[in-house]
Amino acid sequence: MNPPWDVIVIGAGPAGSAAAIASARSGLRTLLLDRAGFPRSKVCGGCVSPAGLRLLHDCGVPVAINAVGGLTVWSRGRSAHVRTHAGGVVERSLLDTEFTHAAMRVGVKFIDECSARVASHDASGVVVQATHRGEQRTLQARVVVCADGLQARSLEHVPGLATKVWTRSRIGLGTLAQPQAMDTTMLRERAITMLVAPRGYVGFARLHDGRWDIAAAVERAMVDEAGGAGAAIASIVAHASGDDTFARQVGRLTGWKGTPLLTRRREHVEAPGIFVAGDAAAYAEPFTGEGMTWAMETGLRAGECASQLARGLYEAGSYEAWWHRCIARQQRRAMRLARVLRMSGLVHAGVRVAGASDRVARLLTRAAGSWSGAISVDRRDGADDREQIDHGRLA
Ligand SMILES: Cc1cc2nc3c(=O)[nH]c(=O)nc-3n(C[C@H](O)[C@H](O)[C@H](O)COP(=O)(O)OP(=O)(O)OC[C@H]3O[C@@H](n4cnc5c(N)ncnc54)[C@H](O)[C@@H]3O)c2cc1C
Repeated sequence: MNPPWDVIVIGAGPAGSAAAIASARSGLRTLLLDRAGFPRSKVCGGCVSPAGLRLLHDCGVPVAINAVGGLTVWSRGRSAHVRTHAGGVVERSLLDTEFTHAAMRVGVKFIDECSARVASHDASGVVVQATHRGEQRTLQARVVVCADGLQARSLEHVPGLATKVWTRSRIGLGTLAQPQAMDTTMLRERAITMLVAPRGYVGFARLHDGRWDIAAAVERAMVDEAGGAGAAIASIVAHASGDDTFARQVGRLTGWKGTPLLTRRREHVEAPGIFVAGDAAAYAEPFTGEGMTWAMETGLRAGECASQLARGLYEAGSYEAWWHRCIARQQRRAMRLARVLRMSGLVHAGVRVAGASDRVARLLTRAAGSWSGAISVDRRDGADDREQIDHGRLA
């Protein structure tokens, strides 16, 4: 951890590792810190969009994926399935560990179990307080990239970078399930299945090793009212699929982890010597599975800007202007979708109409960001789905 560092990156999720890679590739001495011991788990659906897969490749991160190319949406016992551009499903602990390895391969020094925060900053440099296994250190760098996820505690003492949390926001819940833990007849191996109910939605995606990643966005009060995470998820699954047996099986799964309120944004994502990337900058609910893609995009850009700043070539405000132009706009689209998902009648009508019309399905799935594009409707409702999958198994 000894100085001097050109760039310190706080947080080693996709945003932080991507930032560290961009910074180290430009020849800067780069330190990457994470408070968790790696490998660490993260509540996430694990779905990497087509654009995200390209960014992983650019960052030199080899990771096992289950290729997916479709989305099935369930509401009140009916479903519509559309084909999408090909993306992949990854296990987060594996992905994030591989990402740190890729960073170390290009010369980044990575230290886990090290919590850090910005103590002071100005145009000449940044002071970071780090705590590594109980030992406190004061570190200095020319530039700091804060990529420490939703709560972004590393920025707590930095004036002017306040966060606004959407009061109607939901919390995230997630777990991994063995295939034998539930009857997965209604799920497709090569598609993402989303079950949407008035107070939340649950996504199922298959990992390369056969397990299922289950991730949800749920009203916070619902977890207490239902008597726990499993019960809240079971009630959403029952409402959306109409399949009580499946819902009970999902409700019996263990290992649920939660997140703080999800949807939040900042007006400013840079300050002298500081760039904010990934969820730490802003986040919109996860229905479209783009959080990791935004994290990598902003991380890479922050790393490039850090490198320009360290060399005296940075034009102040250009990172923030890019972020508002490119990322905030995509997050506004995701926010609009988040609002629509709260109108259960509209969602149900959308599923019915999308199941009957290619044109409407294509229009609706524009909301899916880089997953959308060459989308075509594949099945009309859940009953058809089940029959065809069952026949396949019998054959
Ligand atoms: C329910 C749910 C489902 C989702 N599904 C998807 C999906 O299918 N596809 C998708 O692309 N995205 C999805 N997302 C979003 C995605 O998980 C995030 O957008 C993504 O992980 C953001 O990456 P990040 O690097 O910004 O932050 P994170 O991945 O959260 O990483 C932040 C890191 O900072 C570390 N840290 C925190 N504080 C400190 C500190 N003080 N000092 C040092 N380190 C610190 C943490 O330990 C962590 O490792 C989902 C999110 C949720 C909640």
